Amino acid sequence: MKRETHEGEAPVGGDLPPELFVEYGRRLVEWVGDYLRDAERYPVLARVKPGEVAAALPEEPPARAESLEQILADFDRVIVPGITHWNHPAFFAYFSVSASAPGILGELLTAALNVNAMLWRTSPAATELELRALDWLRQLMGLGPGWHGHINDTASISTMLALAAAREATGLDVRERGLAGRADFPVLRVYCSEQAHSSVDKGAIALGIGHANVIRIPADAEFRMRPTALAAAISDDVARGMRPMAVVATVGTTSTTSIDPVRAIASITRAADVWLHVDGAYGGAAAVVPGMRHVLDGVDLADSFVVNPHKWLFTPIDCSALYVRRPGIVTRAFSLVPEYLSTTDSSDVVNLMDYGVQLGRRFRALKLWMVIRAFGAEGLSSRIAAHCALARDFAGWVRGEKGWEVVAPVPFSTVCFRYAPSGVSDTDADALNASILERVNASGRAFLSHTKLGGRYVLRLAIGNIRTERRHVAAAWDELRTAAARMR
Ligand code: PLP
Repeated sequence: MKRETHEGEAPVGGDLPPELFVEYGRRLVEWVGDYLRDAERYPVLARVKPGEVAAALPEEPPARAESLEQILADFDRVIVPGITHWNHPAFFAYFSVSASAPGILGELLTAALNVNAMLWRTSPAATELELRALDWLRQLMGLGPGWHGHINDTASISTMLALAAAREATGLDVRERGLAGRADFPVLRVYCSEQAHSSVDKGAIALGIGHANVIRIPADAEFRMRPTALAAAISDDVARGMRPMAVVATVGTTSTTSIDPVRAIASITRAADVWLHVDGAYGGAAAVVPGMRHVLDGVDLADSFVVNPHKWLFTPIDCSALYVRRPGIVTRAFSLVPEYLSTTDSSDVVNLMDYGVQLGRRFRALKLWMVIRAFGAEGLSSRIAAHCALARDFAGWVRGEKGWEVVAPVPFSTVCFRYAPSGVSDTDADALNASILERVNASGRAFLSHTKLGGRYVLRLAIGNIRTERRHVAAAWDELRTAAARMR
C-alpha cells in the first residue's frame, strides 16, 4: 500500500523535494544568523549532565521517515542544550576558535558539492584551489616560496604526517621493510620542548617510534626550548648509537603560547641532518599581522610547518595546513596507486591522495578561500592584532589588581594568570584558582580553562573568537574578580 508522506517528510524514494530543501534551507540560514548574532544568550559551557543528551534520544533508529519539522524541533530541544558554544564571544578556553560567516557559507557549498578530491580528476577545482589557497596563506604569513601546502583535518594528523616524512627521509626504508625484527634498525629519537603539544607524542606512538623515544627538552624561564639542551641531547643520543629523526619546535605552545627559537634550533638540526618540523597550529596565524612576522623567524629553514586556519583564522573546524619543503619525500612515504585509481592524466597533476594515509578528502579549501577573500589580508590582520591588543589589556588589568599575577609572557592573545594573594600558600592558591575557574564556568557567562606551570595551577584566558569584543573580556574579568572575592 502506498504510504502518504507528510509535510517536511522525505518521499518513499529519492531525496527531499528541492522546494522543501529551499524552504528549510532558508529557515536554517535564518537560525544560523540569529545564533551568530545572539550566541550570548546561551551559557557558554553546556549545563547538561553526563548521559542526559543520550537519555533524550531514542535507542532505536526511526523505522519511518520523520519530518524536518520534528527533527529540527528535537535539534532545539535536545541538541542545543548539550552544546558548549565555541562560537560564544566569551569562549576563552583552550584556544578559542570561530566559524565566521564566510567560512560557514563555504561549508554549506562543500556539503552541497560533496566532491571527493582524492585525485585531481575527481574534482580539479578542489585540488587546484587547495594548492592555491595554501599558497595564499603562505604569502599572508610572510613565508618564502618553495613550500608545498595541503590541508589535513587537524594539526595532530599534520604533525604525524610530518614525522612520517622525517622517518622516510632517514632512508631506513620503513615503508617496505617495516620496523619489527630488524637487527640493523637503530632507535629513532624525536625531540620537542617540555611545553610541546601531546600530538607529537601521539604521532611518534602511531609511527612505531615509541613514546620513550620522544625526548622532552627543558625550557627556559619563558617556556621556550633551550637550544643548548637540544644540541646536547642529540649528541648524547648519537654517541649512544641512536638515530635522531626529528625535532619539533613550537610557535605558540599550548599552555603559555611561548615561541621556541626556531632559527637557533634550525642550525642545530641542519648540522645534525635531522628533520625540523614547526608546530604553529595556533601561533602561526599571527604572522598574517605584518608587525608580527617575527614569530615565524627561522621557519623558512624548517622541513615542515603546520598552522591551523581552524584555530585562529576564522575557518570552521576542520582545516589544518601542512607545509613541506620536499613534497617528494611525503609522496615517497605514502603514494600507492591501486589499479582502480590509476589515471591517464598528465604526470604534472597533483593527486592529493598521495600526500597522506586518507584516500577520500573533503573540499576544505573552499571555506578557507572564502574566508581569505571575504576578509582580505588587512581584515585578517586587523582582527588578529585586535585579539592580541585585548589580551595585553587583560594582562594589564590582572597585573594592576592586588593579589593577582600574570605568570607567563603574552606574545599572542592568550594570558596565563593566577590569584595568589599574600598569606596564602601555593597549595591553597592552587585550590583557590581551581574553585574560581569552576565558579566562573558555572556562571555560563564565560568559559576559561587552566594549565599547570612549574607545578602550580594557572588560569588561562585565550582570545580568538571573531565576535569577541572588549566588553566580553571585561565581563570575564569581573566574573573572575567576583568569584575570587566570594572565595576568601
Ligand atoms: N599543536 C598545538 C600547539 C596545539 O595547541 C594543539 C591543540 O590545541 C594541537 C597541536 C593539536 O591541534 P588539533 O586539534 O588540530 O590536532
